[in-house]
Amino acid sequence: MNFIKRSVMLSVSLVLSAAANSAMSAAANSAENSAKNTAAISTENSAKSAVEGSAWSEFVKVADYIEIKADRVGGSEQEKQTAEWIASEWKKAGYDVTMQPFSYKRRSKTYNSQNLSIDIKGQSDKLLVVAAHYDSVGVKSGSQGLIDNGSGVAALLSLANLLSDGTTLPYTVRLIAFGAEERGLQGSVAYVNSNDTSNMIGMINLDTIIGGDKLYVHSAHSKPYRCDYIKETNYVSGTELREGIRTVSKQLYPDTPHLLHQEYKGYPEGETGAWSDHSPFACSGVTTAYIEATNFALKGKRGNDGYSQVADKAYWDCFDEKNLTSCNRDDEKAWGEIWHTKFDKKSALFPVMKDHLKTQQQQNVKVLLEFVKQANNWVK
Ligand SMILES: [Zn+2]
Repeated sequence: MNFIKRSVMLSVSLVLSAAANSAMSAAANSAENSAKNTAAISTENSAKSAVEGSAWSEFVKVADYIEIKADRVGGSEQEKQTAEWIASEWKKAGYDVTMQPFSYKRRSKTYNSQNLSIDIKGQSDKLLVVAAHYDSVGVKSGSQGLIDNGSGVAALLSLANLLSDGTTLPYTVRLIAFGAEERGLQGSVAYVNSNDTSNMIGMINLDTIIGGDKLYVHSAHSKPYRCDYIKETNYVSGTELREGIRTVSKQLYPDTPHLLHQEYKGYPEGETGAWSDHSPFACSGVTTAYIEATNFALKGKRGNDGYSQVADKAYWDCFDEKNLTSCNRDDEKAWGEIWHTKFDKKSALFPVMKDHLKTQQQQNVKVLLEFVKQANNWVK
């Protein structure tokens, strides 16, 4: 982070001195104008590369960290250590971190986990939540949880760093890292049951935001989720947050914007199920959007439901490229899935898709950063 800030300052000062010199020596209007234009473009480019640099360096940092904390099962010692590590990263960026301990029961055993959050002050006290779970399914599965959900955590670290310079925000941005998502959304449920959600104007859930073939953004299902575990239920499924993110993504990345998935059985276009941390918020009256990297064109185990993430045949036992499914559906085990498998770790993913991960992580962070700066255009 320091390196990035330094390099921005350095290039801005070089540009400024270049502009001053050229104005002095030539004193011609055209020279001055072209210097101004060059200055504007260079400043814009260096801001862009600062965002891209942060997006990737934070991801690599998380990837290295979770190689040694791969077993971050909700309620475990490694999960707790990971929470403390995220908190220390946020503190380094200058924030006060709020820890929310909670416990949950599973097969009559009690587990202790924790959520953590920071607030980045905006012009309004209304809260725009951006959240990601930091636990993993555990090494028994072979997974270290790099894309699920090291990618979401890394985006939270980047946003904290990039917004620590006093950027003007219309709403206060609250970044939350949830524990125990893989154990049945325990952290996000505990969060909405013990925090006031009436001041929240939106919640953006980041869960596995890279690694799949394409980037998507979903809204909550128009048919209400089961919400009986929420103290005060007020289900909403508005699409304004999803559409705002999509619009910003289309402006910044016209060739590869965040997509709506096509309609599939039980799921209208762009609408998702209750399986991640957005769901307790939708139940509590908060409009949600959910960013996810996968590939809904693939016909997986249960159809085109987005659970199969990649068309690369390395992730299938037998891939039928023409029909985008397994050539042996009865015997297929791999199904193009990375999450919760032995593929979800640095040693398996970096050799084959490092550039792809980088491009997607950079796009997600850039879109999120731009979106939170103009969120008042989309959510009130
Ligand atoms: Zn996840």
